[in-house]
Amino acid sequence: MTTLEIKNLAVAVGGSQILSDVSLTIKSGEVHAVMGPNGAGKSTLSAALMGKPGYVVTGGSVTLDGVDMLALPTWQRATAGLHLIMQYPTEIPGVMLQDAMSAALDTRNQDSNHLKKIIETEAKRIGFDPELVMRSVNVDFSGGEKKRSETLQLAVLQPKIAILDELDSGLDIDALRDCAQRVEDATLETNLGVLVITHYSRLFEQLKPDFVHILTNGRIVKSAGPELADELEVTGYAAYL
Ligand code: ADP
Ligand code: MG
Repeated sequence: MTTLEIKNLAVAVGGSQILSDVSLTIKSGEVHAVMGPNGAGKSTLSAALMGKPGYVVTGGSVTLDGVDMLALPTWQRATAGLHLIMQYPTEIPGVMLQDAMSAALDTRNQDSNHLKKIIETEAKRIGFDPELVMRSVNVDFSGGEKKRSETLQLAVLQPKIAILDELDSGLDIDALRDCAQRVEDATLETNLGVLVITHYSRLFEQLKPDFVHILTNGRIVKSAGPELADELEVTGYAAYL
């Protein structure tokens, strides 16, 4: 059982305070949705959790099973078990996708001898063309291929906690269904804990949230069960702004 504990987190970017007093506890197997309008600070939260340069933590703490994540560089947060699927996945020219996954497994002291076989199985599950693993990470991939590529990496690396920043942006309905279903499967198969950031509830058809939190103006203003997502679908965020 793994616990990601975010306590009273405050984050500034470019000299402005973007997040204030954000607290969330995510355990293995749980799906927490953070929903909010554009500009609420959702991507700032994911960037701060992974340690993106320029996102300055001005208060609070983030621990994974008691280990201070904020003291670690990004790669050590990843090897500790945090995994981010970015809203706009980065293209990495010159780094072959298969080599990137192989190196990531090596860094985790995990066997990469069966990687080809695992890639074949996992690619099939999410409708990803396995030939693409021989190309540079995300370079000239379509929107759907990028998110499938990121989901493939998650399936191969089996992190403890995944942060999905708008998995639904830039991909079609079929790709969204495949990726969201694979993450939902991981919550059952490998007890993955998930922080899913979105402003639409359409991906909840596959990936079922246990808790829904509303983030507006850099603060969590309401937390409840999945019924809150249904309510937002009808009323929007207006009541919480
Ligand atoms: P969301 O993902 O909820 O749409 P963001 O976290 O991307 O929101 O942005 C929240 C606020 O922080 C916005 O007002 C945005 O302009 C600001 N912001 C985000 N990143 C930066 C940055 N690198 N420099 C300056 N302002 C930023
Ligand atoms: Mg965003």
